[in-house]
Amino acid sequence: MKKTILRKYANLIAKCGVNVQEGQEVFITAGLDQPEFVQMVVEECYKLGASRVVVDWDYQPLQKTQYKYESLETLGSLTAYQKARWEHYLEKIPCRIYIESDDPDGLKGIDQDKMLKAQQMHYPLIKGYRDALENKYQWCIAAAPGAAWAKKLFPELTKKQAIEKLWEAILSTSRVTDDPVAAWEAHNANLQKHCAYLNSLGIEKLHYTAANGTDFTVGMIPEAEFKGGGDTSLQGIFFNPNIPTEECFISPMRGAAEGKVVSTMPLSREGQLIENFWIRFENGKAVEWHAEKNEQLLTNIITADEGAAYLGECALVPYNSPIRESGLLFYNTLFDENAACHLALGHGFPDTIRGFEEKTLEECRSLGVNDSMVHVDFMIGCASLNIDAITKDGQTVPVFRNGTWAF
Ligand code: ZN
Repeated sequence: MKKTILRKYANLIAKCGVNVQEGQEVFITAGLDQPEFVQMVVEECYKLGASRVVVDWDYQPLQKTQYKYESLETLGSLTAYQKARWEHYLEKIPCRIYIESDDPDGLKGIDQDKMLKAQQMHYPLIKGYRDALENKYQWCIAAAPGAAWAKKLFPELTKKQAIEKLWEAILSTSRVTDDPVAAWEAHNANLQKHCAYLNSLGIEKLHYTAANGTDFTVGMIPEAEFKGGGDTSLQGIFFNPNIPTEECFISPMRGAAEGKVVSTMPLSREGQLIENFWIRFENGKAVEWHAEKNEQLLTNIITADEGAAYLGECALVPYNSPIRESGLLFYNTLFDENAACHLALGHGFPDTIRGFEEKTLEECRSLGVNDSMVHVDFMIGCASLNIDAITKDGQTVPVFRNGTWAF
């Protein structure tokens, strides 16, 4: 891919993505696949005034080796230097950038049970830090092609051609045009227009139906509102958490979901794919589920902790979004969640509560925002999906017809 275009993309991540402030620190997590590109992102952060940029390199085979040889006690613990790092985050409030390039099947063969148990031991040790940092810092997830990921999408091409093709797909869906910053401003305005309309309806619940058997109702939190595109941190800094993004999302009322949802795309999780699955909810809780492939992995998600069986997100994405229109299945949630309506099990977003800035995290959660160590999106959008909003004054307003906006 041409360096001039990659430079624009790197600038987009640093400027629109996390919006690095003068003197701020930046922590980047990235795979080993595109080191030259990561270096460009680092440079763009410095150019915007970053005082320090730290890169943590990630390598799936290494992760597999660690899970194989380390004991559960080691994997589930928190060392003094890891604690010091969390304390550093709390003190400095750095930006966080994640550049994804992983192989969707890269952790195949890992001991799933050990992984879940280690996460269950580790999470309570970091939960206090995570809660204390919630909504305080700017973060951004973006992507760069890895060879294995590219070959998964384009198996018929050579490695080099496949990587180039995946670059093209990432850059076009991420709106890396001649002037990406302007393109993102226009895109954000459009998403906010859709959210404003949804928020004006006074929605009490949403009812989903589709030809594949989805028949599902989810309740809204009266104080919550739909959000889309950019977000503002508690420090008052505007940033774009996902590049790309096409969704209008909200945190639904914990405990208010009934019926069955049928997935319409495989779910990539922990380097493996869960395929052809459905989940049935009662009183907001997943009570029954089935997957044709990797059902154990789905069970591990839903039973990870108490909140994992409840919903944390409900997102509306038209079936004709640019990502859907690309015709590609990316096997990566950052992209696939922007190709179809989706729900997420687990952690909800306290910042979807109106006036969350003046509320404590506990107050937001007591209104009905779910809390969990996991947040896992799964796609339920398809060409036959209809969604009706049932409003507070008892009206039924069509929101989606045949997979796309009804208004
Ligand atoms: Zn989402």
